[in-house]
Amino acid sequence: MAGFFKSLINKISNRADIDWDDLEASLIAADLGVHLTTYIIDDLRDLGRKVTVDDVVEITRRHLSDKLPPDFPELTPRPDGKPFVILVVGVNGTGKTTSSAKLGLWLKNRGHSVCLAAADTFRAAAVEQLQRWGNRLDIPVVAGAPNADPSSVCFNAHKQAIADKTDFLICDTAGRLHTRHNLMEELTKIRRTMAKQDETAPHLTLLVVDATTGTNAMQQAKEFHKASPLDGLIVTKMDGSGKGGIAITIYENLDIPPRFLGMGEEPDQFAIFRRDTFVKEVL
Ligand code: GDP
Repeated sequence: MAGFFKSLINKISNRADIDWDDLEASLIAADLGVHLTTYIIDDLRDLGRKVTVDDVVEITRRHLSDKLPPDFPELTPRPDGKPFVILVVGVNGTGKTTSSAKLGLWLKNRGHSVCLAAADTFRAAAVEQLQRWGNRLDIPVVAGAPNADPSSVCFNAHKQAIADKTDFLICDTAGRLHTRHNLMEELTKIRRTMAKQDETAPHLTLLVVDATTGTNAMQQAKEFHKASPLDGLIVTKMDGSGKGGIAITIYENLDIPPRFLGMGEEPDQFAIFRRDTFVKEVL
């Protein structure tokens, strides 16, 4: 997205008159969404004078800030002493396993105890990948046998986390795109399973979306939201050709706010969503 604004700036500063269609197409291409784009264009037209780069940046900044959710409080352990259960869902390749590990480290760095559940049992590599992360970050990982029922892995991990009085349990779930129906059923089953040992669980369900996939992510959010109500997004690959604009579109349409951002492959390249920082990065 930052790249997009740079190229936009070049375009505008090289021209005597702004090409409105071109600008509109660029804003939509940056995943700002049709509504937001329309508001920005309307405000720029209302200026009634030659539009400058500063105008575009300033008006976009204002609208972005208005459209984004306020900052959330930090995650805190549950007062009842039971684990705070986080389900991490999403399609394969979005960065789900990496983000589960990063979130684990993020919580650990804040002094909380964490346990990871490797419930992406259909992709053998995902279990190994999470175990490697666990070793590297010194976070316990509960895994099942290959092809084990993901719900049983989550159940066992939850049981262990309760016994160990772990503050946070993060479940990395399966994300096979080609069997969408099964995947959604599986998520429903995982939710039911988590509620067996604590009827208030899961406490947070985060969908991982890849910022470089643009509007595909919107479709994914819609489908997952139906199967497993989503509380927020982890927007990954913000470091790539990522257009964080997809987070705005999803929030605007489905009221699912961005909560964390992935900005690289390293475990510490991860941050809690902060409105001001996000807007600054976009611009
Ligand atoms: P999963 O299939 O959804 O569990 O995806 P993985 O966690 O295996 O990640 C897929 C690929 O994306 C891996 O190569 C990760 O290193 C990479 N990845 C994950 N998050 C980020 C990110 O924020 N930035 C970049 N550049 N790569 C990421």
